[in-house]
Amino acid sequence: MTAQLIDGNALSRQLRADVAARVTALKAKGITPGLAVILVGDDPASQVYVRNKVKACEDTGMHSVLERYGADMSEAHLLARIEALNNDPGIHGILVQMPLPKHLDPHKVIEAVSTAKDVDGYSVQSAGELMTGLPGFRSCTPYGCMKMLESIRYDLKGKNAVVIGRSNTVGKPMAMMLLQQNATVTICHSGTKDLKAMTLQADVIVAAVGKRNVLTADMVKPGAVVLDVGMNRDDEGRLCGDVDFERVKEVAGYITPVPGGVGPMTITMLMVNTLESAERTK
Ligand code: NAP
Repeated sequence: MTAQLIDGNALSRQLRADVAARVTALKAKGITPGLAVILVGDDPASQVYVRNKVKACEDTGMHSVLERYGADMSEAHLLARIEALNNDPGIHGILVQMPLPKHLDPHKVIEAVSTAKDVDGYSVQSAGELMTGLPGFRSCTPYGCMKMLESIRYDLKGKNAVVIGRSNTVGKPMAMMLLQQNATVTICHSGTKDLKAMTLQADVIVAAVGKRNVLTADMVKPGAVVLDVGMNRDDEGRLCGDVDFERVKEVAGYITPVPGGVGPMTITMLMVNTLESAERTK
């Protein structure tokens, strides 16, 4: 079997076209959706992510502000900048790029962002809204994964889903979103004794670990849907995911590539969240 590809670039293009149309409609009412991105330090990967987010804003007609600060920025200064953006009516979403330099407390920084502008969905309130099924900002990466499942009209009801990874930003919200769609969800992590035994039961596998080849072909049930969140480098320095793509695609029913899979969808859902934040101010 050769799996069908879920193309994150193609799906993103469709969704961003819809975002751009809604941005135009909002602008006609005098509101331009605005995203502020704060980057502290000079982490090379973060610089790329931030650049892509700003470009996506420009492409969809949104306003964006990129604030860059040195790695020695004080916490007080960062919190003051967030407060200023919280009070800026031209900004509807605030994103502080993670990871932060060690001396800055990510929890404190995330909680400083107004809930109304938490377009990353990282705050305790946003997590609680997801947990309780209330409307709110959904964490962009798992939200993008759900859109990918929706794009193949996948009905999760009664399906077994395995999420590998339990971070607050990807693994846990992913599991919660799958649960909300009535999947039976198992969350695996570094303490899981027999990962293969878990994944072999799964109709849907989401790999969100950050290690190459965490998921190999012998761990996948024929026909399963495999979503690869991981971003790693192979021996030649090329971007790759957590999944042994070449072999797993011969077993899975659907699979996402890296690059061109979950990555672009994450940015797309950030655009959606920012747009919806602005739409709420109508
Ligand atoms: P993270 O915070 O480091 O979490 C990784 C998780 O993997 C942890 O829960 C860890 O378990 C688990 N883990 C580690 N080794 C394992 C193993 N051998 N078997 C099973 N589980 C294992 O990472 P993250 O922020 O969730 O990101 C995960 C990956 O996704 C990274 O590669 C990141 O770059 C990528 N990512 C991609 C996007 C995108 O847009 N494509 C967005 C966000 C993240 P413990 O909790 O027990 O330590």
